[in-house]
Amino acid sequence: MTFEYAPAPESKSIVKIQKEYGHFINGKFVKGKRHFATINPATEEVLSHVANGDKLDIDKAVQAAQVAYTKVWSKLSGAERGKYLYRIARILQERAREFAVLETMDNGKPIRETRDIDIPLVAAHFFYHAGWADKLDYVGVGTAPKAYGVVGQIIPWNFPLLMLAWKVAPALAAGNTVVLKPAESTPLTALLFAEVCQQAELPEGVVNIVTGVGETGAEIVNHPGIAKIAFTGSTEVGKLIAKAIADTKKVATLELGGKGANIVFEDAAIDQAVEGIVNGIFFNQGHVCCAGSRLLVQENVADEVIKKLQSRMEKIRLGDPLDKNTDIGAINSKAQLEKIKELAASGSAEGGEAWSPKCELPKNGFWFAPTIFTGVTQAHRIAREEIFGPVLSVLTFRTPAEAIEKANNTPFGLSAGIWSEKGSKVLWAAEQLRAGVIWANTFNKFDPASPFGGYKESGWGREGGRHGLKGYLKSKEQVM
Ligand code: ADP
Repeated sequence: MTFEYAPAPESKSIVKIQKEYGHFINGKFVKGKRHFATINPATEEVLSHVANGDKLDIDKAVQAAQVAYTKVWSKLSGAERGKYLYRIARILQERAREFAVLETMDNGKPIRETRDIDIPLVAAHFFYHAGWADKLDYVGVGTAPKAYGVVGQIIPWNFPLLMLAWKVAPALAAGNTVVLKPAESTPLTALLFAEVCQQAELPEGVVNIVTGVGETGAEIVNHPGIAKIAFTGSTEVGKLIAKAIADTKKVATLELGGKGANIVFEDAAIDQAVEGIVNGIFFNQGHVCCAGSRLLVQENVADEVIKKLQSRMEKIRLGDPLDKNTDIGAINSKAQLEKIKELAASGSAEGGEAWSPKCELPKNGFWFAPTIFTGVTQAHRIAREEIFGPVLSVLTFRTPAEAIEKANNTPFGLSAGIWSEKGSKVLWAAEQLRAGVIWANTFNKFDPASPFGGYKESGWGREGGRHGLKGYLKSKEQVM
């Protein structure tokens, strides 16, 4: 017997979206010139129009950040900077519901995730880095390290406010000022964050937010007043940024794509592993650079794992992201949906076998049913390319050595998961895997104290923890 759930939508009344937004420069909202629409991907309803920043806007923002750096922020003690970060963290907690609803509307991800994961983690990042602001001598770049100055930060649409927090909190704690560009399809929570900066009375110009498209991001990258770039996004754009700064003094942290292997050994607790597989690939519609998008399962337990996975997938609820019972929300944009469809079609064309649970896709908006592909080989595109959607490629292996070989056979190296009841096997596998983050008997767990980043084409540097802060500080020797 199955029970139908009654709709349980979260109210939208808590958010007040303006018809049009400008940029946030030098502590004030300034008018933009040209605007583009930002929509709710679950309904295609236009939420607002945001400004498309150009060279002049970036120039103004960088100038404001430079003045704020030299006149105010670099003169404050770490403890004083920390107070601002604590204040921001507390305001974010107070306004958590508002941020969660707005993020769900602009991004399409379920309220359950924005409410329980994104926004609490955002506040946690500010709290964590507030604590570091007066302890920079212990970060690991020698005593009295120095900030870079003005940092340019470009973020993606999959965790809009969380990626802002990953970037802004350490930059400010380390004493830098910032010019940040949110992704074109998810600018609204960054603009609400600008209000939080005003509410916290953060000195003007310390945080500047310029909305816009890829070219706006390129203006940040190429601006001579920017000392460091922090970017999260596609490997393709990461490469463009690396090339653009190659003959400059700019440094960069790049957090790029992934094709994480989630390895299930024969001795794993299978039910627990199945939960981890679901969380690994269907969390945030699979729009996760560290998603466990390749399941590597030991051949003798493969049938059992797949059967249990399918039965678990039958229970996944796809639909209105504002409904508190929804597990899978909308795909963030039409363009992303097309990309997922194209790669999934290639999976079938190359011989993979697709399976999805029965689920009705809403008429409006962008949707893709959770899907697993069995019969996938290493040569298939869906085993090699990042799909960035709710699509899992299932491969099998016979020996632990084969699992490692297959897991590492990728140009990426961001994440991996290991499922085994044997501690020695977990440690052995973790040592062999060429990935920046490795989870054992869990997946997609995040903490501000834990460094995150990739090997190979998954990027440069780390974000989070002491390692992440290092990327925002120069040693005394570097300054000389
Ligand atoms: P995705 O393919 O997932 O949308 P992108 O790498 O294209 O990821 O986008 C991530 C962020 O990078 C967005 O804020 C986007 O506007 C920005 N961006 C896109 N192209 C460029 C570029 N050439 N230079 C700088 N930023 C860019």
